[in-house]
Amino acid sequence: MHTIDFRSDTVTKPTPGMLNAMMQAEVGDDVFGTDPTVNALEAKAAKLFGHEAALYCPSGTMTNQIALQVHCGRLDEIICDYTAHIYQYETGGYAYNGGLAIKPIHTENGKLNHKNVADYINGDFDWLPKTALLSIENTCNRAGGLIYSYDEMKALRAACEVNNLKFHLDGARIFNALVELNLKPKDIGPLFDTISICMSKGLGAPVGSLLLGNSKSIKLARRLRKVMGGGMRQAGYLASACIYALDHHVDRLVDDHTKAKTLESTLKELSYVSEIKPVQSNMVIFSVDGLSAIEFSEKMRSYNILCTGMSNTWVRFVTHMDVSQDDVEMACQRLKQG
Ligand SMILES: *Cc1c(COP(=O)(O)O)cnc(C)c1O
Repeated sequence: MHTIDFRSDTVTKPTPGMLNAMMQAEVGDDVFGTDPTVNALEAKAAKLFGHEAALYCPSGTMTNQIALQVHCGRLDEIICDYTAHIYQYETGGYAYNGGLAIKPIHTENGKLNHKNVADYINGDFDWLPKTALLSIENTCNRAGGLIYSYDEMKALRAACEVNNLKFHLDGARIFNALVELNLKPKDIGPLFDTISICMSKGLGAPVGSLLLGNSKSIKLARRLRKVMGGGMRQAGYLASACIYALDHHVDRLVDDHTKAKTLESTLKELSYVSEIKPVQSNMVIFSVDGLSAIEFSEKMRSYNILCTGMSNTWVRFVTHMDVSQDDVEMACQRLKQG
């Protein structure tokens, strides 16, 4: 049996069509701002979300880190959920790169509620950092791919305005949310001051993320990208894969969600599965009786099924374009055998 890789949607490899597009790319030098394919990608993404400008960067960690520094200065503080990527998985970059403080909020499901925003904001005292930015994820990764609805995002935007906060979207998987909500990028773009979008997750491009914002923010973002070592030269080869992904790989994300639902319904039948987090997009997170997440992942590995442990207890399966419906059926058979 071949290996079925559910570790992450980052493991996807370029399709023949995407590779072909990359081979045809016209390139220049993006540090000089003269790579036509990078410029085309940035213009396309900005327009799609109704933002003035965009910046192509090597990773989503970098686009998030740049956004934090665009909106906040030293002695400022960011609010996010406790499970947020910017807090958990960016090596403490908010402090290292930006000299920023963070206030992680413990919520029930990884989603911030607009009603509580005012409570999170520090008073104007010398001994408190100034609360400057609210950041959310849609979908919420560590929370199991949960989705903020349009109304939830809109209410948070209103709360940010009332409380004088900037609003950043870590939209690593925003297209997974949009296809599920049946919304267009333009419907939600204007709710945020900046948006970070990963091209190398479910969309299947090999490298890169986009940061969207107004012209002033993106001008500063370009300088911050350079100082972080993220200025690339003939990046058009990579940008071309991203343009291809935006044109061909967005609508198909619903298939990944169907595959995740198939896994969920199998897991629901199994007596050794103790808990499953609600499945809303392409992630399935669950726990297993008597085995740690690492032990269970090791057991799966012996059957050529790869998954990850999110913590000691939580196992994660992520569906993506490189696992077929047949692969999912095979994995379900294996799971049923225990
Ligand atoms: C993957 C991811 C990122 C960025 O990750 P990179 O590996 O640096 O591209 C940011 N936020 C979330 C929620 C993610 O899942």
